[in-house]
Amino acid sequence: MDHFLYRDGILHAEDVPLTEIARRVGTPVYVYSAATLLRHYNLFDEALAWGPHLVCYAVKAASNIAILKLLGDAGAGMDVVSEGEYRRARAAGVPGEQIVFSGVGKTEAEMRHVLAGGVRQINLESEAEMRLLSRVADEMGLEVPVTVRVNPDVDAKTHEKIATGKSENKFGIPIAKARQVYAEIAALPGLRVVGIDVHIGSQLTDLDPFRQAYAKVADLTHALRADGHSIERLDLGGGLGIPYARSNLAPPVPLEYGQVIRDEVGDLGCEIEIEPGRLIAGNAGILLASTIFVKEGEGRDFLILDAAMNDLIRPAMYGAHHDIVPVVEPAPGIDTRAYDIVGPVCESGDTFAKGRDMVPLSAGDLVAFRSAGAYGAVMASEYNARPLIPEVLVQGEDHAIIRPRPSYDEMISREAIPHWLGDD
Ligand SMILES: *Cc1c(COP(=O)(O)O)cnc(C)c1O
Repeated sequence: MDHFLYRDGILHAEDVPLTEIARRVGTPVYVYSAATLLRHYNLFDEALAWGPHLVCYAVKAASNIAILKLLGDAGAGMDVVSEGEYRRARAAGVPGEQIVFSGVGKTEAEMRHVLAGGVRQINLESEAEMRLLSRVADEMGLEVPVTVRVNPDVDAKTHEKIATGKSENKFGIPIAKARQVYAEIAALPGLRVVGIDVHIGSQLTDLDPFRQAYAKVADLTHALRADGHSIERLDLGGGLGIPYARSNLAPPVPLEYGQVIRDEVGDLGCEIEIEPGRLIAGNAGILLASTIFVKEGEGRDFLILDAAMNDLIRPAMYGAHHDIVPVVEPAPGIDTRAYDIVGPVCESGDTFAKGRDMVPLSAGDLVAFRSAGAYGAVMASEYNARPLIPEVLVQGEDHAIIRPRPSYDEMISREAIPHWLGDD
């Protein structure tokens, strides 16, 4: 459930008509619902209420500091994959002790930064990284809590670009090698083993791969404890999927996911960490766009929007589906037409949908892309010298611009012409 509903014939974000946001901020723009973000966070929190746990929001899904502040104040920890995300979480007031640092290629500079600022744990992904972190932590006179991300070789049955738990993926260390790696860590200075980490992919619509992975983590917990390691925490990653098309079957809900966790690892006496991103932010955001032209093509009509692949890349990158709805509620029973819905960017890949049935639309009409809150704004670029898309957060009757659209002068002033090219 989200808080984007038609009211008096106009699609609203909570109590704010999207027409008002379009008038004030212009389009394209991302609009988030605070109530939806909090609702989704709370669903996970409640799903793990049977034991000690921390829901660490995966910052990469939607990383605006206003969103991080909202979730952090509600009690969420954060899962970050770069110094930039760590700095965002800290700027939003999240203490270092609530932040987990994940990622396959952490640099020495990034390690130094988060160690100096405080961190809940670092999830290690390779032996080279383990040796580097040991040296850095030891030099800084610290002992850093670590887990090892194990690759359980489980098929997450999701899009190949977001599956991370098969042995051919770059992530984690093979689970069969885990005991050897933990033994090496125990012998290194600066590192303190606190648990095990696993994350098998994103947009999972079936609980079975989670079950398989967590069963392997349970076995490994017993083996590592027998080897003398202290396994107090299990970081079980993110990945629960969302319904991108209203017409599809709904994927499992957090409560069912929490039950799988309880079944597989609930008796181990560990604190449970999870790292959901998409399910918290995805349906909490829409992309609001305007129709520039309706162009009649041969055998098909094109709806040319002012949003493009640089603003929302998921359709171009993953062939992803987003429901696209008119902001003014169509009269019931009105005939639909099939449109190819495209942006203005000079690539054929700049196509959001092909042959999509929509009520007839005209230039100037507003549309909303549903389920665009996760992996939307964070993946936006300025390709075609289009200004970086702004973001708005709604809470009840309030709305605020949480990232303004840059002016063209701001965009251009970030660049410089070398003196040897002349200054005219
Ligand atoms: C991307 C990622 C997540 C979040 O995944 P979602 O599918 O958005 O829930 C969690 N943990 C790690 C390590 C990730 O890379």
